[in-house]
Amino acid sequence: MAGRLAVTDDRRTQLADNLARVEERISDACAKAGRARDEVTLIVVTKTYPASDVRLLAELGVRHVAENRDQDAAPKAAECADLPLTWHFVGQLQTNKVRSVAGYAGIVQSVDRAKLVTALSREAVRTGRELGCLIQVALDAEAEAGGNAGNTARVAARADRGGVAPDGVPALGEAIAAAQGLRLDGVMTVAPLSGPYAGRQLAAFERLMEISSDLRANHPAANMVSAGMSADLEDAVAAGATHVRVGTAVLGVRPRLG
Ligand SMILES: *Cc1c(COP(=O)(O)O)cnc(C)c1O
Repeated sequence: MAGRLAVTDDRRTQLADNLARVEERISDACAKAGRARDEVTLIVVTKTYPASDVRLLAELGVRHVAENRDQDAAPKAAECADLPLTWHFVGQLQTNKVRSVAGYAGIVQSVDRAKLVTALSREAVRTGRELGCLIQVALDAEAEAGGNAGNTARVAARADRGGVAPDGVPALGEAIAAAQGLRLDGVMTVAPLSGPYAGRQLAAFERLMEISSDLRANHPAANMVSAGMSADLEDAVAAGATHVRVGTAVLGVRPRLG
């Protein structure tokens, strides 16, 4: 028993230290950008880590957590149902998982197609819960001059990452705004690995801000901009992100891809 407690204490100390370091990075980035610290919300991405870590994080003051796979997230969220947490779903979402995800997620950040909007709306109405939605933008799918070969490569490269091309954002925004039970909260992106923004995180996040401004022209309340992860949260804060999604820098390097 003493051994178990010691292990928990070690983990708590480790998480507290990591959180403090991430907090300092966010504060520094806000200061540098002339932004108030409270303009940026930390979301801790707990994928692949156990419910016990989520519990420690909640005790350490974390209020937003994110997961990307329903089969891992659903039991974890159930175990942590007593905690004052908002769960964000940030992974590719198949419509057959919508019922489960809508059971614990407050915000789905990976809305990228009309079919998903229909399924999420149906579930929100059925359960009487409002669901926040972010449009996931695939910046590697930006329309540009180029041949078919390049296009095929782009589609392949983002096949497992999801997202709608920037020119599809307005229509998807209208669909979400018109859907019963859904609330259009804003946009999300993952820095692209291919295409014109590959390796240019700051430029990618600045492009996301433009897309956000265009969306807000018609939907002023859709002011969430979710961008930036462990490696590039400073760029996201500099560009104007309101939410950063940090996994590794808080919890450690994941034991497997997730
Ligand atoms: C895993 C993940 C993150 C966190 O990535 P880290 O590099 O571990 O900080 C953020 N966003 C999404 C969509 C993710 O899948």
